[in-house]
Amino acid sequence: MREDILLGGPSAFLAEELGLQLSERLVAYQAWWETEGASISAAIDRLGTPHLRQFSPTGERVDEILYPPNYTYLLDAGYSAGVLYEVAERHDWRFSFMLGFITSYYDPGVYCPYTVTFSAWVPIYKYYSGARREEFLNLLTRREPPFGQGATWMTEIGGGSDLGANVQTHARFSNGMWLLNGEKYFASNVGADLSVVAARPEGAPTGVKGVALFIVPRERLHGIGRNYLIRRLKDKIGTRSVPTGEVELREAEGYLIGDARQGIYYIMEVLNFSRVANSIGVVAHGLHALSQAYRFAQQRRLFGRFLVEQPLFRHELAQQYERLRWAGALAWLTEQWLETVWLEKPPYSEKYALFRLLTHLAKFWTAKVALQAAQWNFEIWAGLGTLREFPPERFVRELLVTDIWEGTRHRHLLDGWEVLRRYPLLSHISALWEIQAVDSSLLTDIEKALSLPEEEAISLIEPLLTRLAQAIGMITAEKRSYAVLA
Ligand SMILES: Cc1cc2nc3c(=O)[nH]c(=O)nc-3n(C[C@H](O)[C@H](O)[C@H](O)COP(=O)(O)OP(=O)(O)OC[C@H]3O[C@@H](n4cnc5c(N)ncnc54)[C@H](O)[C@@H]3O)c2cc1C
Repeated sequence: MREDILLGGPSAFLAEELGLQLSERLVAYQAWWETEGASISAAIDRLGTPHLRQFSPTGERVDEILYPPNYTYLLDAGYSAGVLYEVAERHDWRFSFMLGFITSYYDPGVYCPYTVTFSAWVPIYKYYSGARREEFLNLLTRREPPFGQGATWMTEIGGGSDLGANVQTHARFSNGMWLLNGEKYFASNVGADLSVVAARPEGAPTGVKGVALFIVPRERLHGIGRNYLIRRLKDKIGTRSVPTGEVELREAEGYLIGDARQGIYYIMEVLNFSRVANSIGVVAHGLHALSQAYRFAQQRRLFGRFLVEQPLFRHELAQQYERLRWAGALAWLTEQWLETVWLEKPPYSEKYALFRLLTHLAKFWTAKVALQAAQWNFEIWAGLGTLREFPPERFVRELLVTDIWEGTRHRHLLDGWEVLRRYPLLSHISALWEIQAVDSSLLTDIEKALSLPEEEAISLIEPLLTRLAQAIGMITAEKRSYAVLA
């Protein structure tokens, strides 16, 4: 383990461990976070989630989010640096995700608005051909403030894992436009200018096949006033720098994206983007936690030596760092696959199926590895870690949330397994990565489990997919090369 890389911040890790070269703009962005961003972020975390003002002085419903001082300044830094417009103008996903890595090193909550904005941009760019296409796209990709913001709202009170059963928001076509009615229970970046929203058109079948995707602007475009209402903001334990609220849609204007019957595919594409971003972001935040542990150990003297010199500390740090490096390689591998498949449309190729599998592996495993790094940092600070005045507790709070949103571990295990059952991917996997060299029986173990009835395989899924995630991450990290199917 190279301690200079650990202390060099996100850019050193990207360049030295993951072989990704950074432009001067990215290095400057990291320097900005060090000098200004990190302290603003800490203040926002302390102050709490932005506040909601629901009524104007004359009693009209306005549902405005009141941000703490400097919040907009903080948020604008990433938009100004190009987290969105580089995607729109040059399709430079790598640059955008690197910005996300740097942002999340300091504050995964701030990365959320960027992520949901580009995740909203994608289906509009790919599938929406209505009259307002250019207006919507331009709004989300401005180069100058005020930046337009997006959001992606699917989850309702019944639960986020089972969208087929729980999306109750319905859409009715009336007088030439769609009107949506329903409620969204977890709506991040609430207050966004344009949200993509899952809803069930009248007469659509039950289950996931009946869910379509709509664009919902904040302001009514036919008429006056707010197009969606914000019932309340959540008082979250982590990611406090992004407002997450409950949204009410009351005859809200919606703009149907693409073919209503293919809505579930668009939703899954939206989620895949956010999941890749989440995987990248949590690795960055976990890395920050490890660097905190190291800095603490440099000045903590125990039994006549600094903690950083103690063999047990060094052994555990090396283990944590190694796994995080593999997790980082898996996250960036998934990002490289995203770059090559993101323009695919249904019906997707087998290559896309492998991308989906990687996305599930990356989302659940990176979140787990990063959370363990944060918990280890907490343990290293020991009693001091339990005090809110010191940094460790925030890492844990942030990474508990990022483990849950964008789909829980169970969902990714089950969905990843389903991809493996449905598509013959094992031959591609063994051709792309020398799995046998790092885990000799893994592929045959997976093959055997796939031949079992689902109920019997259930206890094997987590260990097998964890081994697969780790093996692919490890191979990618050692080779520093990202294998993508031709
Ligand atoms: C801070 C925050 C912000 C969020 N922002 C958004 C947002 O902007 N837009 C949005 O759409 N959603 C958002 N979400 C919702 C998020 O996507 C959901 O929380 C997540 O998908 C899980 O859904 P749930 O919380 O309803 O849990 P549930 O779906 O109710 O799951 C409950 C438990 O059951 C488990 N489970 C599910 N299926 C199975 C199964 N088959 N077998 C065994 N166990 C199973 C789950 O893993 C979980 O442990 C946000 C969540 C948080 C915490």
